[in-house]
Amino acid sequence: MSTKYEPVIGLEVHVHLNTKSKIFCSCSTEFGGQANSQVCPVCMGFPGALPSFNEEALRKAVLAGLALGCDIQKYSRFDRKNYFYPDSPKAFQITQLFMPICLGGSVTIDNERGESKTFNLTRIHIEEDAGKLIHGENLGSANSSYVDLNRSSVPLIEIVSEPEIRSAEDARLYMQKLQIILRYAGVSDCNMEEGSMRCDANVSLRHIGQEKFGTRAEVKNMNSFRNVQRAVEYEIKRQEEILEGGGVVRQETRLWDATKGITMPMRTKEDADDYRYYPEPDLPPVVIDDNYINDLRSKLPELPDSRKARFMKDFGLSFADAYLLTSDIDYANYYEEALKAYNEPKKVANWVMSELLRIVNDKVCNIYQANIAPKSLAELVQLIDSGAISGKQGKEIFALMVESGKTPADIVKEHNMASSKKQALLSLSGNFSPR
Ligand code: ADP
Ligand code: MG
Ligand code: ZN
Repeated sequence: MSTKYEPVIGLEVHVHLNTKSKIFCSCSTEFGGQANSQVCPVCMGFPGALPSFNEEALRKAVLAGLALGCDIQKYSRFDRKNYFYPDSPKAFQITQLFMPICLGGSVTIDNERGESKTFNLTRIHIEEDAGKLIHGENLGSANSSYVDLNRSSVPLIEIVSEPEIRSAEDARLYMQKLQIILRYAGVSDCNMEEGSMRCDANVSLRHIGQEKFGTRAEVKNMNSFRNVQRAVEYEIKRQEEILEGGGVVRQETRLWDATKGITMPMRTKEDADDYRYYPEPDLPPVVIDDNYINDLRSKLPELPDSRKARFMKDFGLSFADAYLLTSDIDYANYYEEALKAYNEPKKVANWVMSELLRIVNDKVCNIYQANIAPKSLAELVQLIDSGAISGKQGKEIFALMVESGKTPADIVKEHNMASSKKQALLSLSGNFSPR
C-alpha cells in the first residue's frame, strides 16, 4: 500500500442463527442433509403459503444485538426485497430494511501488537437465507445448475459495520472477534467453511486527507478468515493500480477466487431502488418490551473482553495468555473449573495452553472432549508442583490420560509411581523411564 491512499472498508456479515427450525416454517435447519429433504410449501415459496415468525430466531437476534452493545428496537418490521435468481423460487427475500431489530453497537478488536480498536456497527437486521445453487460438473451435467432449498429460509442476521475499518488485517480481526462474541452469546457456530458465517467486504480508496469516500467494490465468496484478509488486500492493490493508472473504480460486486488469489467482476452493483422494497404484507410487526429484552440480557454470559480483563487482573495472566484463554467460551470455562480444583493460575494456564490445546487442535475437538476433565488436569499440575512426579513424567501421564480418560492418581497408582518415587520409578516399564 502506498502512502497516497487510505483504504475504507465496511463489512456486511451474514450469520446463521442456530435455531432448530427455519425462520418462517417448521422445517429443520440441520446442515448437510440430502438435497431438498428439509423443505415445505412455505420455504419453497409456493404461492399462497403463509409464513409465521419463529420466536427462537427473534430471541437469538436480540441476544446477538445485546452481546454487541446494540440498541434493541422494540418495534421492528419485515420488508420484501424483490429480485429474481434461481436460488429463491418465490423471487423475493423477507428482510428488514426500514425498521431493523438493532441499531448501533460496536466490536472492539485486539491485534498482536496489543493495540485495541473499536469499530461501530450501523445496524443488525433479521432475514431469511436463500437456497444453494450447485453448479454442474460433479452432479449430473456440466451444463446444468442444481438447486438445494434446504438452506432456503434458514434464519440469518446481517451485521452491517460503519465504513471505519482501514486495513485488511483489521477486517480479518473484526470477523474473528465477531465469531468469538457470537459464540459466547450462543447464537451461532459462525463456521465460515460451512457458510454459517459469510462476509461481503466493501472496499474503496481515497486520497490521504480527503474526506469524501471513493467508489467501492463489494467482494464476496471468502470462506475463511484468511481469505477475508487476502481478498481485501488484493482489492486494495487492484484499486490502487487503477487509480494510479488514471482510471476510475467501478461500483460493482466481485467474487473472490481463493485458488487464483484474485477478485473477478460478478455484476454491477444494484441500488436499493432496484429491489422495489415494500413492507412484507404477510407478517405482523415485531413488538417486544423491556421485560423481554432484560430477560435476555440476564441470560448472556460474561463477554470476552470483560473476561479477558478479569483474567489479567485476578489471575495475573499476560495479555496474550488471557486473550487465548478467553478466545473460546469453553476454554475460559474449562480454565476456571480447573482453577477451582488447584488455584495456581499461571501454572494451570500453561498446561491448558500448551499441552491441552495441542490435543484440541490435533483432534479438532471441543476442549471438553479431549478426555481430560478440568479437575484431572488440575490434579496433574498439583502432583508436579508437590514434587511427587517430575515435569517429564507429568507429560507422559498426560499422554496416558488423553488415551484412557483416567485421572492422574489412577495412572500413578497403576504404574506404581507413588511417592517413594525413585524406587517406584525404577520398577516402571513401558512409558516411563527413570531419570
Ligand atoms: P448496500 O446494502 O447497498 O451494500 P450500504 O450503504 O448499506 O449498501 O453499505 C453496505 C456496507 O458498505 C456498509 O458496511 C458500509 O459501511 C460500507 N460502505 C459504504 N460506503 C462505502 C465506501 N465508500 N467504501 C467502503 N465501504 C463502504
Ligand atoms: Mg452490500
Ligand atoms: Zn419449510
